[in-house]
Amino acid sequence: MTDSYRHKGLRKKLVENLIEKGITDHKVLDAISTLPRHFFMDLAFEEKAYEDIPFPIGKEQTISQPFTVAYQSSLLEVQKRDKIMEIGTGSGYQAAILSLMGARVYTIERHESLFNSSKTLLTSLGFNTIQFFWKDGYKGLPEYAPFDKILVTAGAESIPEILLQQLKIGGICVIPVGKKDQHMYKITRTGENEFKNEKLDTFRFVPFLTGKE
Ligand code: SAH
Repeated sequence: MTDSYRHKGLRKKLVENLIEKGITDHKVLDAISTLPRHFFMDLAFEEKAYEDIPFPIGKEQTISQPFTVAYQSSLLEVQKRDKIMEIGTGSGYQAAILSLMGARVYTIERHESLFNSSKTLLTSLGFNTIQFFWKDGYKGLPEYAPFDKILVTAGAESIPEILLQQLKIGGICVIPVGKKDQHMYKITRTGENEFKNEKLDTFRFVPFLTGKE
C-alpha cells in the first residue's frame, strides 16, 4: 500500500470540499487529510477513494461517505484521551479518524470477516491503541463503560436505551435514527436520568441489526 503525492493532493481537495459543505472542526479536517482512505477500500475503487461518496466493503456494508464521517466526528466534540465506543467498525476508517484525533477507541462489529479485516489493517498501520470487538453492538460494552462518547455508524430504528446507560454524565452519543432515512441525533447525558436530544440533518445508513454474523 502506497500513499503517493497524488493521493495526498486528492485528500487536500476532499478536505476543501468538506469545508465548503460546512465542516469547521480542525481536528476532524486534520485527521481526514492525514489518513489514506484508499487503504480502507478495494483496489478497484482506488481512483474514487477521495470523492465524497460511500463505497461497498463486502457483506453488503459500506465505508461511510467522508462528509458523514466528518459530520459525526464533529458532533462528538472529541477531546484528547476521550474514551469512545464506536458501533459498526466496518472498514475501520471512522475508528482510525477518532484515534488520530487522540481518542481511546473501542469499536464493535457484528460481522466476523469485517472485524478481522479491519483489525488486521489498522494493526498493520500502527493503530495499536484501538480495541476491537466482534459482538452485537446493541448491547454495547457494559464491562468497559462508562464512555465519554458513543458513536453509532448504522441506522437505528429507535434509540437503544441500554447504550445511553453506558454514557458518562456530560457524555455525548451520536446516532442516526429512522427507518428508511435517518435523522442524526446528538444526545447529551445531562444527569443520571436526564438526556438532551438534538434532532439534526437527514442521512441514509445501512441498518443497525441485532445479533452476530
Ligand atoms: N464506521 C464504518 C461504517 C460501516 S457501515 C466505517 O468507517 O467504515 C456500518 C457497520 O455497522 C457495518 O459494518 C455493519 O455490519 C455494522 N453493524 C450493524 N449492526 C451492528 C451491530 N448490532 N453491532 C455491531 N455492528 C453492527
